[in-house]
Amino acid sequence: MRRCVKCKGEAAVHLKSKNASFCGEHFVEHFLNQVERAIKKFKMLSPGERVLVAVSGGKDSLALWDALLSLGYEAEGVHVDLGLGDYSAGSREACQEFARRRGAKLYLFSVVETYGVSMREITARNRRATCSVCGTVKRYLMNRLVQETGHRVVATGHNLDDEAAALFGNLLGWQEGYLARQYPYLPPSHPGFPARIKPLVRLSEFETRTYCQLRGLGYLGDGCPLAKGASSLFYKELLNSLEERMPGSKLRFLFGFLEEGRSRFADVPVELKECEICGQPTTASTCLFCRLMQRAGLDPLTRPQVRQVV
Ligand SMILES: [Zn+2]
Ligand SMILES: [Zn+2]
Repeated sequence: MRRCVKCKGEAAVHLKSKNASFCGEHFVEHFLNQVERAIKKFKMLSPGERVLVAVSGGKDSLALWDALLSLGYEAEGVHVDLGLGDYSAGSREACQEFARRRGAKLYLFSVVETYGVSMREITARNRRATCSVCGTVKRYLMNRLVQETGHRVVATGHNLDDEAAALFGNLLGWQEGYLARQYPYLPPSHPGFPARIKPLVRLSEFETRTYCQLRGLGYLGDGCPLAKGASSLFYKELLNSLEERMPGSKLRFLFGFLEEGRSRFADVPVELKECEICGQPTTASTCLFCRLMQRAGLDPLTRPQVRQVV
């Protein structure tokens, strides 16, 4: 029988990567410690600071929201309803249920209510990787939303597996600009825009799933249907095979880069102009968001419909 490293009681969880076992209570404590450690190391938030959590309804973002509240941060949630049938209905319900249970504020943005079409339609009309289109639209919405809510920081549930896979992809293509900007804390790219943080960067998918189970958080188990076939999923499989043979590889790979490798990639400063259509800062004459919207035959200036639902 494995024993908890803290209390020597019967262990409920074993972490191969850290060669450590925990009982339920001490695993939750370990999880919160890892979140706090990342927040301190990368200077993400000051104690009790107000933060907007982008929640999908999946295990990572709900674990993050729960952890931030447990650590005493004033964490409010925002959910983007992509309009993908049962998947989106389930996602929205998981976010609302959590917000009601924890007495937290939740904002909802509906892609269909604003643009009249689903995210599937918007990505299909653009010949680009689906996740990058969706990510651009979501980033634009967060920038708009915080102008109304006054948040200075947006937190996302990207975990160790996500970040290691992104790093692997960026290295595979030697994308220097992306490598220079891959960091768990990104300062505001423009006055009035929020900083972006990834407080789960030290925690694996296995750990966030276990945390949700131990904390009784109802999350949506299925990944986004639009992400099917995304190369990041394949990179995760590769890294999991490596982790299986060499436990701790993912953490070494990512943190070795963050602490040693990243500074070797210069983030070349670029001259920013105002987008001709929406006025957002951009390197081109029209920003990427406006170009994606136009290619989808939609009006980029449509006012996003955001409302507080809980
Ligand atoms: Zn214990
Ligand atoms: Zn624009």
